[in-house]
Amino acid sequence: MDDRIFNFSAGPAVLPEEVLLKAQQDLLCLPGVGASILEISHRGKPFTAILEAAEANLRELLSIPDAYRVLFLQGGSRLQFSMIPMNLLRGRSADYITTGTWGAKAYTEAKREGSVRQAWDGKSSHYQSVPTEDALELDPEAAYVYFTSNETIQGVQFPQEPQTGDVPLVCDASSDFLCRPLDMPRYGVLYACAQKNAGPAGVTAVIIREEMLGDLDEKLPGMLSYRNHADNDSCYNTPPTFGIYILKLVTDWLLHTVGGLEKMYALNRDKAALLYQQIDSSDGFYTPHAHPDCRSLMNVTFRLPNDELQSQFIEQAADRKLHSLKGHRSVGGIRASIYNAMPREGVERLAEFMSEFCQSHR
Ligand SMILES: *Cc1c(COP(=O)(O)O)cnc(C)c1O
Repeated sequence: MDDRIFNFSAGPAVLPEEVLLKAQQDLLCLPGVGASILEISHRGKPFTAILEAAEANLRELLSIPDAYRVLFLQGGSRLQFSMIPMNLLRGRSADYITTGTWGAKAYTEAKREGSVRQAWDGKSSHYQSVPTEDALELDPEAAYVYFTSNETIQGVQFPQEPQTGDVPLVCDASSDFLCRPLDMPRYGVLYACAQKNAGPAGVTAVIIREEMLGDLDEKLPGMLSYRNHADNDSCYNTPPTFGIYILKLVTDWLLHTVGGLEKMYALNRDKAALLYQQIDSSDGFYTPHAHPDCRSLMNVTFRLPNDELQSQFIEQAADRKLHSLKGHRSVGGIRASIYNAMPREGVERLAEFMSEFCQSHR
């Protein structure tokens, strides 16, 4: 345990130690099963119980109404960029709100599938903000309005959902899934790859309103059809069993150790504030990327006065076990990803280091 760093990686990212220890303890033998999670059938009782528990945990944490299905799919969030328009457009048009790199990529993929519009695009202002209500140019006839609740690369997060009238929201929540409670009835689809805030790479949770599933579209490949995956309870093919198992342990941790998403949200606000305070009190030494009203609780992005200082910052931070702070290559600067599982102590240490580094180099 002493060798473990404070891991600020954007993803795959830090997991709760309790989860890793439990997985380690049960790796040779799941209690009462006589074999490990890696060795058992996805059709047998032990795995079915894990799958059902993972779903039940998500339903409890997010208060997901009965009218929704919870699917565990593969292909990462990138495949959702295509599956969403393939399954939901059905000859209609959809609106996209683009607040960063991931939203832009989703829009590019959707254009291949049918007619989509930009209801708002933050590109010309370097993806530093989210749109105000009046700035959105929404089509009231749209099949859905797509947005990215947290742009992982820019560190821009919607403080609350955009207002879209009766048009259902479709949300890429990959990097802020389970960081706070949500008003689920506003969503048609909410999805997240697990490797940022909910588990390992390989599994993507898709929460979809039953009525959005529609009828089976015979033209869609089976692997790309939400209806098909729902009818087969996420076991159309072999699901990512290990990923689902870890997601179940992470959601156990959220429910029973953390105490639910209100508590997690309070912890996340508190952790993020420690870093934003350092940025704001640095007299311009640290320049934040996101506007204050949409700063991410998960990915804190900022720059130093020059590249030389930036490199020194990253090097000296690593000497203190503070790792993976380099910003995404497309944006530069520093990015501290402080997902649910990042302990407060790691954020305190980073805040302390930021304060000392600023004092000695300003
Ligand atoms: C990481 C990420 C993705 C891409 O996820 P993959 O699983 O690599 O396809 C998409 N959207 C957001 C917001 C992300 O953070």
